[in-house]
Amino acid sequence: MTTRIKSDWLSGAEAQAVCAMLTSAGYEAWFVGGCVRNALLGAPVSDIDITTDATPETVTELANSAGFHPVPTGIEHGTVTVVVKGHPFEVTTFRRDVETDGRRAVVAYATSIEEDAHRRDFTMNALYAAPDGTVADPIGGLPDLDARRVRFIDDAHARIREDYLRILRFFRFHAWYGDPERGLDAEALAAVAANVAGIDTLSRERVGAEMKKLLAAPDPAPAVAAMAQAGVMARVLPGADPAALPVLVHLEQGIGLAPDAIRRLACLGGEDHMERLRLSKTDARRLNRLLDERGSLAEPEELGYRLGVKDARDVVLLTAALLETPLPEDLEKKLEQGAAATFPVSPRDLMPDYQGEKLGKRLRELEDMWVASGFGLSRDELLAEG
Ligand code: ATP
Ligand code: MG
Repeated sequence: MTTRIKSDWLSGAEAQAVCAMLTSAGYEAWFVGGCVRNALLGAPVSDIDITTDATPETVTELANSAGFHPVPTGIEHGTVTVVVKGHPFEVTTFRRDVETDGRRAVVAYATSIEEDAHRRDFTMNALYAAPDGTVADPIGGLPDLDARRVRFIDDAHARIREDYLRILRFFRFHAWYGDPERGLDAEALAAVAANVAGIDTLSRERVGAEMKKLLAAPDPAPAVAAMAQAGVMARVLPGADPAALPVLVHLEQGIGLAPDAIRRLACLGGEDHMERLRLSKTDARRLNRLLDERGSLAEPEELGYRLGVKDARDVVLLTAALLETPLPEDLEKKLEQGAAATFPVSPRDLMPDYQGEKLGKRLRELEDMWVASGFGLSRDELLAEG
């Protein structure tokens, strides 16, 4: 029986134009990887990968003559991004892995999807679709996808030694597409445990990007627990403790809050996130604030006033997850009330009695009193404080 995918991106004029550019010149064009996998699962598709027997040079020439915009985004692994009316398509020449330093597979071009499939990581990631949507499955990924089984192609040990990032990808894809009831593939876990030391050779940017994708899954907790069990977490993020993560995810789901990688990272704890995961300045600043504040017993109103609704909500959730306490009643209302409160005393009210450093100190004292009163003390009451 032939399997076919149907999707808006597939029938879209831009995707069809890139395929036609290749096929009309006598080359093959196949959609591959996440776009085919997710179309089969009915999940959203983020980026579209196309694979072909045309070399990157040919892809570039064909794109230029078709009036598209070719960008050599990953020419060392055979990838040209072809941009059609603002839509990017990653076009990669069929490849096979020829040798490896464990960090990055050294590649040669291949002539068929059968060969190309063997250099990919998981069976569910080696599914191809022709321009009309007909699915080709050279290594038997469809039954695994149906069973939601994340499994390495060929020998798990060998695949991991070719590229240690595949260890982290294994947990990421399990979190997103695995069967939570079934647990993780035993052969893969054994191969992971035997090769964990290889993680230390990976660039921190790649590790950080993978961890963020893993932690953005709807429920990453089972995969993260398995990662800790296999000794991966201790290498990626020493000191991280996955125990409270399932509780956090449960609380998030209870209030309909979208997944957030930084909130989940704050739940794991650990050391040197900035350095180990090469977080952006914005992410690092928010993470450090959540790590400093988590466990705080301050009222939600106070947190809302000091941190704003979003961070305050995260702190309350993290604290409830870590201490296994219920969320406060009317949480949103309290957070918003705090965030909307304005301190009624201005520096001018205290001058000229207070100046400079003393003025700052007095303002903070009064602000603390005001917060402690549940924002109840008025300006006059505060100024009357001795
Ligand atoms: P998504 O884009 O939704 O995160 P994806 O499966 O498309 O998932 P990408 O990282 O975009 O993942 O890679 C596209 C495809 O390239 C994968 O499906 C897989 O076939 C292959 N691939 C990517 N990275 C590796 C790797 N490190 N080892 C082997 N194959 C890989
Ligand atoms: Mg992709």
